[in-house]
Amino acid sequence: MSSDDEGREEYLFKIVVIGDSAVGKSNLLSRYARNEFSAHSKATIGVEFQTQSMEIEGKEVKAQIWDTAGQERFRAVTSAYYRGAVGALVVYDITRRTTFESVGRWLDELTIHSDTTVARMLVGNKCDLENIRAVSVEEGKALAEAQGLFFVETSALDSTNVKTAFEMVILDIYNNVSRKQL
Ligand code: GDP
Ligand code: MG
Repeated sequence: MSSDDEGREEYLFKIVVIGDSAVGKSNLLSRYARNEFSAHSKATIGVEFQTQSMEIEGKEVKAQIWDTAGQERFRAVTSAYYRGAVGALVVYDITRRTTFESVGRWLDELTIHSDTTVARMLVGNKCDLENIRAVSVEEGKALAEAQGLFFVETSALDSTNVKTAFEMVILDIYNNVSRKQL
């Protein structure tokens, strides 16, 4: 925690977005941070993050949200990417079962690389593609419950639940931190 020029309390939290290649991580972030969506997947060059602010209990809470630069394609996300993260969105694509089956591996990686308690949200993305769904809502919910994660289905294309996915994580981190300070 720190204070801004007017002495208001400020928070800055690092959040990472992980999951298999092409599940929609970059589009979820661009939808949340800039309200943009791109139909063409383009590889991000270098590690990228976006900073988003929200106000909670009159305090400015900034989330520095990190996106992979395509390293996930080679299962080569480095420990630097995870370092200091206090929140994570673990994303799969509801139309590709293999991406759901990878969730356990991403959670393991997160545990190995993180040094603190991490607020975790399981995100089933592309829920606009109901006609080619390959993972049911119930399966997503069950996995989240078993692993102690929040769960939501999203669409970066039509914006469904995108704000909710990020803001629930930010709120949970804030609650953990403010509880510790009491
Ligand atoms: P990343 O590799 O996980 O960062 O995935 P991208 O954000 O680059 O998205 C991969 C592809 O899926 C792109 O062609 C996107 O346009 C598409 N995509 C991402 N999110 C959605 C979504 O919610 N619905 C649909 N229909 N397509 C999506
Ligand atoms: Mg990407």
